[in-house]
Amino acid sequence: MIFGKHINRYYLKYSPWLLLGLLALIAVDYLQLLTPRLYQMVINGMNDGYVMYEGVKTVFDMDFLLERICMPMVIIIVCICIGRFLWRLCIFGSAIKTSTALRNRMFDHARGLSTQYYQVNKVGNLMSLFTNDLDTVEECFGSGFLMLFDAIFLGSLAIMKMWNMDRLLTCFALVPMALLLACSTIVGKHLGKKWRKRQAAFSSLSDFSQESFSGIAVIKAFVKESKELLAFKGLNKENEKANIEFTRTVTLFRIMVMLFVESVICVILGYGGYLVWKGSFNAGQLVEFIGYFTTIVWPIMAVSELIDLTSRGKASLGRISELLDAKVDVCDREDVANLTSPKGEIEFRGLSFRYPDGEYDVLKDVSFTINAGENVGIVGKTGCGKTTIVDLILRTYNVPDGSIYIDGKDVNSLSIRSVRDACAYVPQDNFLFSDTIENNIAFGVDAHEPDGVRYAAAMADVDENISAFSEGYATVLGERGVTVSGGQKQRISIARALMRDSAILILDDSVSAVDTKTERAILANLRATRAGKTTILIAHRISTIENMDKIIFIEDGCVEAIGSHAELYASCSAYRKMVELQRLEEEGGDEI
Ligand code: ADP
Repeated sequence: MIFGKHINRYYLKYSPWLLLGLLALIAVDYLQLLTPRLYQMVINGMNDGYVMYEGVKTVFDMDFLLERICMPMVIIIVCICIGRFLWRLCIFGSAIKTSTALRNRMFDHARGLSTQYYQVNKVGNLMSLFTNDLDTVEECFGSGFLMLFDAIFLGSLAIMKMWNMDRLLTCFALVPMALLLACSTIVGKHLGKKWRKRQAAFSSLSDFSQESFSGIAVIKAFVKESKELLAFKGLNKENEKANIEFTRTVTLFRIMVMLFVESVICVILGYGGYLVWKGSFNAGQLVEFIGYFTTIVWPIMAVSELIDLTSRGKASLGRISELLDAKVDVCDREDVANLTSPKGEIEFRGLSFRYPDGEYDVLKDVSFTINAGENVGIVGKTGCGKTTIVDLILRTYNVPDGSIYIDGKDVNSLSIRSVRDACAYVPQDNFLFSDTIENNIAFGVDAHEPDGVRYAAAMADVDENISAFSEGYATVLGERGVTVSGGQKQRISIARALMRDSAILILDDSVSAVDTKTERAILANLRATRAGKTTILIAHRISTIENMDKIIFIEDGCVEAIGSHAELYASCSAYRKMVELQRLEEEGGDEI
């Protein structure tokens, strides 16, 4: 059984079920302890021809056997079965419900964590929290609860019965068991360490596999399959080693438990046999005593297993708690307002920005204004800070007060959701889901008409390509379906953003994989459909943004110049140099 701030609430929430399960468990324990007495009566009855029944000497005949032994035995067995079914349903059902609720909370919390969190914590590791660790916590919640209470009730009831029969024999039976309990506590701690090592090795393995499968194209292109296999084998070996070490310790522990139990049975048989020989115990009583002892073997084993399970559960809950306790650092302040009827004006006022784990300012004293309805291009060399500007508009990171305004309001005074809602974004990686093209395009809207999807696709110049697929818009993409080219992916992503018809559209290097003719067609469509709405186009190709209303030219995180293409070309030497360089590249290519 484990406790912790993230799990305690479920004991309370499911307390009616757990209580019902507990009652059924106590009833089963009580019934279980009635059978050794029946064995005693059968043995004594067969030996002596009579039995002591409710303090009365009664003849042991067929009627007695059927009425007082077999019938009660059948009733006990049926009741035990019903009781076991009931406690399993209540206790294990609560455990399953707990892990489902915990999984939901984990997913919900993970959703709110910053991009920074995902840069530090790899997907493989996160996946093992949702699978292995959660399974262990579920087991610890259900089986842990069962083992603890079963050990308490069944153990104490059986010990009481044994104590009433013969105190010395009970001491002989229990002293080694107490020793076993002490050993179990020490081994339990050791097992916890081994379990953590095992989980860490499994996490590394799943991290590596996840990354290998994601980067399979690069691995193949660089013919590095053997290198990857070697690295995988290394990690797999580590995983095997950790598993073997854990299994070895568990096995040794179980053998030790069995050894203790068997030796105690030997002691009972030896001393009990002596008592029978002496005449202070009869054969039936010895069998009854052994019956009680075998009943407490399970609770004692359960205690030792509980120690092992608890240490594993604690380790897993600890890892899960790290996720649940991870601070959601980008969140709304109190009393934020919603950005209603967004117009699309954006202003940066002297913003300097450094990534949370960064060592230098990526943006330095950046100031510019994008008026509502303007078409703006942001251009500059790779790494100059263009994507960072977009990330900050979308509130992916925190920004200082008074540095970014949307429609004249400080972004920190606006709810993150409403700011993001006002924007449609085409990210650089153009991630598409393993779903139909239609659902991918309609991802950002709550309801859609097929015509709307088709129109957005036409505006992104991808309708023809999609219609050429045998299943058209119902074509499934990704792992379960077809693979589309980089250019098609970019255009489907543009269509997805266009579907939202937001006040602000941001395209981050989103037409880099399409040819110039297609680029021109998309840009012309954007101008037509987005008239009066703000559109921000990030590009490193000047030709992409030269016809925009305004161009913001970034160099090394600073705004170098702002103006139309002609203005910048005339007034900014760095911009002119870039234009010339790109023109030469287009004309001569390799010779530059
Ligand atoms: P651009 O979009 O102009 O190519 P970026 O805005 O992506 O450039 O990056 C600007 C700088 O910020 C780069 O030097 C990059 O290495 C750095 N950078 C980007 N993302 C992070 C991050 N999450 N943590 C730290 N540094 C980052």
